[in-house]
Amino acid sequence: MSEINTTLQASKQLAIQASHHAYAPYSQFKVGAVLILKTGETITGCNVENVSYGLSNCAERTAIFRAVAQGVDLTQVDRVIIYTPSDRVYSPCGACRQVMAEFLAADTAVISTCDTRDKTWTVGTLLPDAFHFDIEDYRAK
Ligand SMILES: [Zn+2]
Repeated sequence: MSEINTTLQASKQLAIQASHHAYAPYSQFKVGAVLILKTGETITGCNVENVSYGLSNCAERTAIFRAVAQGVDLTQVDRVIIYTPSDRVYSPCGACRQVMAEFLAADTAVISTCDTRDKTWTVGTLLPDAFHFDIEDYRAK
């Protein structure tokens, strides 16, 4: 994690740098993501593919899992920036939406950028009625 200027351009540059670390020998589609905390700290991630495609992991999930592994308080995530090297804005896949719904507040901004534009959603708008399960509540019944 590092403290940086948290403007969109600076955040996008971090996501672009993260995309350079992507392991994408199969798709050649190198994606970067960065979580911007309310403190200005950042956690980056990139996609990591596998020859068994279903085992591949997207940049967004890599960043969130990295934050979990580092003990980051994910309630402090202010926004997520995703960069894809293209002229098209890509929205997060379903798996990433479910993981974001588990760890991030519904009003957390999710900004996808590419080489020409960007688009903003919230975690809640990307996955309305997300699956949540409270095992203690379930066992109590
Ligand atoms: Zn994904």
